[in-house]
Amino acid sequence: MDFDVIIIGAGPAGLTAALYLGRANLKTLILESTGIGGQLNYSYEVDNYPGFFGKGVELAEKMREQAMKFSSVFSSEKVLSIGVLDDGTKFVKTRKNEYRAKSVIIATGASPRPLDVEGEKEFVGRGVSYCATCDGAFFKDKNVAVVGGGNTAFQDALYLSKFCHSVFLIHRRGTFRASAFLVDKVKNSKILVRTNEVVEKIEGKDMVTSVVLKNSLTEKSTVLDTSALFIAVGRIPNSDLTKGLLNLDENGYIITDEHMRTNIDGIYAVGDIRKTPLRQIITAAADGAVAADDISLNI
Ligand code: NAP
Repeated sequence: MDFDVIIIGAGPAGLTAALYLGRANLKTLILESTGIGGQLNYSYEVDNYPGFFGKGVELAEKMREQAMKFSSVFSSEKVLSIGVLDDGTKFVKTRKNEYRAKSVIIATGASPRPLDVEGEKEFVGRGVSYCATCDGAFFKDKNVAVVGGGNTAFQDALYLSKFCHSVFLIHRRGTFRASAFLVDKVKNSKILVRTNEVVEKIEGKDMVTSVVLKNSLTEKSTVLDTSALFIAVGRIPNSDLTKGLLNLDENGYIITDEHMRTNIDGIYAVGDIRKTPLRQIITAAADGAVAADDISLNI
């Protein structure tokens, strides 16, 4: 056996699992293909993780350091498949290697959901972005728009309002999913909120120049001049790897019990990939701790 546990994904859930498994002296490998920290890398400001107030990348680095301290092995490899051998051993195949372990923790999180409108694919990287903290700086002193009504859209709009000329926040309804604290912050900022508006089309030449919006109450379409559209309309679970192996809900999230166990003995799911009522850094970290504890008690 190569490892006691293989963790796939190094966001807050995977890193917390690694910390707890390392403290339990279990030989742990973490496989990550898109950078340590997961969604933390896209959060400009974290203000709801107790004991920490700062940039998401700083928290990611602290979590990485703490997990490394307990001798987990990190490897930057894209996982291609996972499965179970006849004797119950789990295998994880990457482009370069095939690893074996007693247990596997899936912590692959979720990716931005596309808006699926005309012009979106065409202008990705040329004004259409799914990450304000990554691409916002390109639009300093310009007019930009964010679409979405959840915490991500509100945080993105607040971040962009620090250095963009005008920031429009476009939402398809009149009420928001974002927390009241963020809604109040936006109300008291220079951000221009446009409710009951649906993005119909993204227009431009080399770069985005405008978006066409349709008001769902009046049915009237208007053109909003903007240099960028930041799309923050939710996330889709990165559960393709587990299709046909693990039980998923109707939206593709992995179903677990309260110990983070999936339908396959020895395979766990933690964080945003899991069917859960709340997806936050703190709940992801808690999931990682619960799974690691269950593994260390049962291995
Ligand atoms: P979310 O909470 O699911 O919100 C997605 C938003 O996009 C909703 O307002 C939704 O509108 C809108 N939307 C979905 N599909 C759309 C479409 N086709 N066209 C237009 N609008 C569309 O997603 P999120 O903001 O990415 O957050 C994901 C999770 O991470 C949430 O659990 C959130 O609380 C958490 N999160 C937390 C923090 C924090 O605590 N600081 C920060 C970021 C994210 P409707 O409301 O009409 O459905």
